[in-house]
Amino acid sequence: MKFQIKKFETIDSTNSYTLQNADTLEDFTVISAAQQTKGRGRKGREWLSPSGDNLYFTLLIKNPEIDLKQLSSLPQLMALAVNQMLKQCGLKNSWIKWPNDVFINDAKICGVLCESKIQAGKLTALAIGVGVNINTSVEALSSLENTATSMLIETPDTTPYQADEILHFILMKFKDNYTIWQDAKKRDQIVERWRQASRLIGQQVVLKDDQRLIYGTAIDFTQSGEIIIQTEKGFQTFSYGDLSLRLV
Ligand code: ATP
Repeated sequence: MKFQIKKFETIDSTNSYTLQNADTLEDFTVISAAQQTKGRGRKGREWLSPSGDNLYFTLLIKNPEIDLKQLSSLPQLMALAVNQMLKQCGLKNSWIKWPNDVFINDAKICGVLCESKIQAGKLTALAIGVGVNINTSVEALSSLENTATSMLIETPDTTPYQADEILHFILMKFKDNYTIWQDAKKRDQIVERWRQASRLIGQQVVLKDDQRLIYGTAIDFTQSGEIIIQTEKGFQTFSYGDLSLRLV
């Protein structure tokens, strides 16, 4: 796996660019931008992407062999990589909120948006988009409805982080997670990493989609990246989609 990094000063959305150009871009291209004018979260929600040494990037994976039933795992392999990077930088209170967010305590520091192109039942392009608040100030995040934070806010030292170094670190961690995950016999190792990185196991949670609220206790993760919740109907598994999850 050899990453090719293409950098932009300003882009509408690194995911949009990647998907629009997926046919001509090589496998494992990374589109990175200093600023996004239309950064997206799920369901068209905005991802606040001010300039100032933050990280907005999309990793393109073109692997038609990936089983579509396993797609839920991919954003989580990336969330894991971000969480590993944060821990390594000394931010011990980071954790993954299944399926696609990384938090420091109660504040969101990173979101992962995974979008795919599928033709004739085969994956042709997978765009794993990542926004990490690295050097964002409290003021820049103050317009957000939910609590958010950045690496710099969480660090006693006021020296800004180098976005390039952080990007390389995340990509190295992703490579390691992805390589293990590709070997089906080793997937338990990844599930164990997810467990270690989650604060949800054993907690009361509510899952929300467009129609319903599902209350239960988070039990575990499957090898396909789903979450197992014990509800009044028994054990149920849910995969990455448009589900939102909250601690009750
Ligand atoms: P949830 O699952 O919690 O409902 P989500 O994971 O679907 O949310 P995303 O769609 O990934 O959320 O991200 C969009 C949301 O993230 C926005 O609605 C906003 O609340 C929040 N957000 C947007 N920009 C940032 C940012 N730079 N830092 C932290 N949070 C942000």
